[in-house]
Amino acid sequence: MTSRTTTPAPSAHLSPSSGAAAAALASLAALATGTGPEHEVIAPSDGRPLGVVRQASAAEIAAAVTRARAAQKAWARTPATARAAVARRFASLVLDRRDEILDVIEAETGKARLAALEEVMDVSRTAAYYAHTAPGLLRPRRRGGAFPVFTQTTERRHPKGAVGVITPWNYPFTLPASDSVPALLAGNAVVIKPDEKTPFSALLTLSLLREAGLPDGLAQVVVGPRDEAGPALVEAADYIMFTGSSATGRKVAARCGERLIGFSAELGGKNPLIVLADADIPAAAAGAARACFANAGQLCIGPERIYVHEAVRTQFTEAFLGEVGRMRVAAGAGWDAEMGSLISEAQLEKVRAHLEDAVARGARILAGGTARPELGPYFFDPTVLSDVPESAALCREETFGPVVAVYPVASDEEAIARANDSALGLNASLWTRPARGAELGARLEAGTVNVNEGYAASWGSHAAPMGGWKGSGVGRRHGAEGLLKYTEAQTVAVQRLLRFAPLPGMSNERYADLLTAAVRVLNRFR
Ligand code: NAD
Repeated sequence: MTSRTTTPAPSAHLSPSSGAAAAALASLAALATGTGPEHEVIAPSDGRPLGVVRQASAAEIAAAVTRARAAQKAWARTPATARAAVARRFASLVLDRRDEILDVIEAETGKARLAALEEVMDVSRTAAYYAHTAPGLLRPRRRGGAFPVFTQTTERRHPKGAVGVITPWNYPFTLPASDSVPALLAGNAVVIKPDEKTPFSALLTLSLLREAGLPDGLAQVVVGPRDEAGPALVEAADYIMFTGSSATGRKVAARCGERLIGFSAELGGKNPLIVLADADIPAAAAGAARACFANAGQLCIGPERIYVHEAVRTQFTEAFLGEVGRMRVAAGAGWDAEMGSLISEAQLEKVRAHLEDAVARGARILAGGTARPELGPYFFDPTVLSDVPESAALCREETFGPVVAVYPVASDEEAIARANDSALGLNASLWTRPARGAELGARLEAGTVNVNEGYAASWGSHAAPMGGWKGSGVGRRHGAEGLLKYTEAQTVAVQRLLRFAPLPGMSNERYADLLTAAVRVLNRFR
């Protein structure tokens, strides 16, 4: 039943002069569902056109969901172990094709190759984790019945149907792939709507899934204008997996609420990083620099607020600025750069606006603060601020760029309180002795907490849930929850011999007394 299609791989380093790379992107574009106007995709690192993708209308997106539902019926009947085998092959294929995937991610985001590498590793590990665990998680389970022996109760898991996966541009391979794989393994079909700036990574996901043996029709990619395509998918799908800003997440949640369909939302962060007095300062400085400027700060779980204990403030700040000063910001495909381009003019403007507002209100720039047009149109230096007042927008709002503010704190208690004083709660990082970190970390109001790491330790722990508290999200990816959310739970209870009514000839009062006595016994045991 499986059909395999292979799309020619984009050749190394997608340069405009490379005819083979252009042809490979064109064959990826051909996988998009949609016959509407062409949308041109631009490489942010130098503004060159990469290729065009046809857009899907709202009607075409609704039709894609209908087709997905039809294909899903047979897939749901396919044994979970056979579905898992597709994910296992996909996990290997992603590693085999690492460099080609990195080329596509790098070309359409402008990010450093090292940042793109995280996506490849994450996708392979997520697929392998669910390949190992999905059959067990989906197995029907016996549960305690209303009455022991007389009630045989089984919990079953059924797929939702057609899952809409809506993703942003910052992790364009990880998000479509890592959210689609568990949905597919749970027996669903997926319709993926990537951000229109980065459709090729999602189309490459589709191509690799098909190459791994995913039957036709079970995964589709639709591209379209942001105000039309996303809402059209929310209107049609049976469940929505949304990743993006908290503002859009609220709109999606409202519509899912009206439609009474389930959804999961992975949203924005304003993540704190705490350095306590007993931290290993050189390690904290290096870890903070890597975490704050990973993917040029366009990382939902990246820190934007550093709270450092007064006792180590000078030592940490000097070491941190030293690390930031040594960071290599560069354009071009290669392993040397630690930071690449921002995604767009709009993102550059947001960074500039936050910075200018903070400086106008008294903030001091300790490092960076300037754009780097000689590298490319949207490059910006890694930037460190101090003395950011409460009134500055970047004090509380997500910047989503290479800007971090350092704040002194007088005690561990103040560090925890200020870290928690936020409307968002996605990720937190804490640098201290490991035992103390594990204890204090539990007091942080965030879905993931990393002790002596910025974000990667929890992100890479695929067996444990990942997601946001407060305005940072609803639901979780990874772990059992990351797969079971794509299912409908069903309880099948088979009643034998004993009825839920008085036995023939028994008075209602006698029945009530007997039932009360039985419940008293049951309560003692379970
Ligand atoms: P965004 O919310 O503007 O867009 C995200 C996606 O939603 C895009 O595909 C967009 O086209 C689509 N969309 C826009 N309007 C829609 C609507 N009304 N209905 C349905 N879909 C709609 O996000 P962005 O600014 O492009 O991405 C950056 C944001 O994403 C940041 O806030 C970042 O923190 C967040 N993010 C969160 C995670 C996470 O796992 N928590 C991961 C990556 C990014």
